[in-house]
Formats: sequence, structure tokens, C-alpha cells
Amino acid sequence: MLLISVASCTEQEEEQTKMVKVDLNSITEIDTVWICTGSAAKRFHSSDSCPGVNSCTKEVKGITRGEAEKKRRSACNICYRLEEEE
Ligand SMILES: [Zn+2]
Repeated sequence: MLLISVASCTEQEEEQTKMVKVDLNSITEIDTVWICTGSAAKRFHSSDSCPGVNSCTKEVKGITRGEAEKKRRSACNICYRLEEEE
């Protein structure tokens, strides 16, 4: 039986979300999106150079798309629309 002890410091967990860990088994599932941590922000962005990210007055953070969806963020209609256009 393998036991892994996890330090129960929520502040550290917050810091760690900034770093995307690359696991070879799940590399295709890692889809990094960018969010503004401001309370008014409700979107996630495919690029940190999106105008929506640039207008962020708080910290811009890279997280996984799954995490962004858990936070009830919806896809930014600026950068995601640009991506879909051929
Ligand atoms: Zn955007």
C-alpha cells in the first residue's frame, strides 16, 4: 500500500496552481487557459496576449481548462472566436 502525505497548507496549493505539471500519461489532457483573478472576471482565455487578459487589473494566472470550468468560467469570445476562424 502506497501512502502519500500531502501538506495541508492551502496557501501553498494556491501557489502550485501557477505551475503546470507535465505528466507524460496525461499530457494530452493538459489544456492551459489564462484567467484574471479579479472578482469581476468570468472568462478564461486561450492566450495570455488576449485583449481581455491585458485589461485585467489583477493577477493573470495559467490554469487547466478543467479548473477554469470548475470555477464556472466561460470561454472568452475574443480569443476563442479567433481560434475557430479559418
Ligand atoms: Zn480572451
